[in-house]
Amino acid sequence: RFKAKVLEPAEIERALRRIAHEIIEKNKGAGDLALVGIHTRGIPLAERLAALIERFEGVRPPVGVLDITLYRDDLSEIGVQPRVRETRIPWDVTGRPVVLVDDVLFTGRTARAALDALVDLGRPKRVYFAVLVDRGHRELPIRADFVGKNLPTSKSEVVKVKLRETDGEEGVELWER
Ligand code: 5GP
Ligand code: MG
Repeated sequence: RFKAKVLEPAEIERALRRIAHEIIEKNKGAGDLALVGIHTRGIPLAERLAALIERFEGVRPPVGVLDITLYRDDLSEIGVQPRVRETRIPWDVTGRPVVLVDDVLFTGRTARAALDALVDLGRPKRVYFAVLVDRGHRELPIRADFVGKNLPTSKSEVVKVKLRETDGEEGVELWER
């Protein structure tokens, strides 16, 4: 059941422009910077941020991909487990600042698995985390450095993120499960 419009297309664009500027400011430029998009919608968001950083700084950071899926392991009582399905990071992570990018931050379990997968590849100089929406309910000590919108939610709500590249339309909505 639809509850509320959270971000219009123009607001997504403005949030990404702000985050691109914040990344450049925090990192003191775009030199050596690289981005990693987390599975479906983190990938177009990382590509858009890379294009914006190029527009502002004249350097386009390379974009890599991590495919991490949460699944429920029925044999254990632990609840959702992240599984790294594919890693496509065709550049050296060692010594460079890396920005992980995802659409929604919830429990933090996906981000933790992404960090594990990333540090398996080398030794980044610094890892940042950027998300379009932080909906709260963390179960691990994980936080985002760059947030498009902080959206307090209940656990029965779900955030629908639609992006041109993956959904053919653009917008963020709050729904009741
Ligand atoms: P976490 O691992 O932090 O619990 O959940 C984050 C991951 O699950 C992200 O990759 C995100 O795409 C997805 N996710 C979790 N909650 C939501 C939600 O309410 N809406 C959307 N669109 N994705 C979510
Ligand atoms: Mg996801």
